[in-house]
Amino acid sequence: MGNLRRAELAGNLAVVRERIGAACVAADRDPASVTIVAITKTRPASDVALLADLGIRHVGENRDQEAREKAADCAGLGLTWHFVGQLQRNKAASVARYADIVESVDRPTLVAALDRGAEQSGRRLGVCVQVDLDETAPAPAGTGPGRGGARPAEVLGLADQVTASGSLDLLGVMAVAPLGADPRAAFDRLTGIHEQVLAQHPGASMRSAGMSGDFEPAIAAGATHIRLGSALLGHREPLK
Ligand SMILES: *Cc1c(COP(=O)(O)O)cnc(C)c1O
Repeated sequence: MGNLRRAELAGNLAVVRERIGAACVAADRDPASVTIVAITKTRPASDVALLADLGIRHVGENRDQEAREKAADCAGLGLTWHFVGQLQRNKAASVARYADIVESVDRPTLVAALDRGAEQSGRRLGVCVQVDLDETAPAPAGTGPGRGGARPAEVLGLADQVTASGSLDLLGVMAVAPLGADPRAAFDRLTGIHEQVLAQHPGASMRSAGMSGDFEPAIAAGATHIRLGSALLGHREPLK
């Protein structure tokens, strides 16, 4: 079982690395400038361990309880844990205990809660501001989880708040391309927003963009981190 699964994951990873290589040639980029974050939601800790053995160093999860248990099961593998899901404020302290990077920070109350949680745990926490690239259906500001990112006009203020926090490090920005839109155009908008952030915070160089269906256009648009679930692990059962 374990050997079959290992071979399957190794094959998927080889295909993904080929595609990253080709996208980097087309974009005149060094493949080493693109980090794979394996999104292991719904997958067992044994898959995480196999991926770690195959050279994956970054993993991402989107639900607190599942992530917390898996991070505990996989302690000692030297992995960097990303939290990429919509996060409720009352889960922030829990996430701050095991996550290394929270990519989905999109509102001031969440920045404050993560900062408090990190301080209580005596840890530093890396943070990306998640940007809502959907231009068609703007959600009202401050409506909290579910909207998937801060409006572009809110991003600089959140970035400033993160850098002013005692226990948080601003790493960069993250986005999901809106469904049904041209991903390249959306990722180019993210690039423009990221450049504004970089002008104020030159160290915040992380640009997390692209998933299994759109990582090539994300690489073309300068993504430093691509978040891959199904391309690496196969198709997920829908969440019940
Ligand atoms: C699930 C998820 C991914 C990975 O999705 P795939 O299409 O399976 O690659 C990436 N980013 C976020 C925020 C996710 O929730």
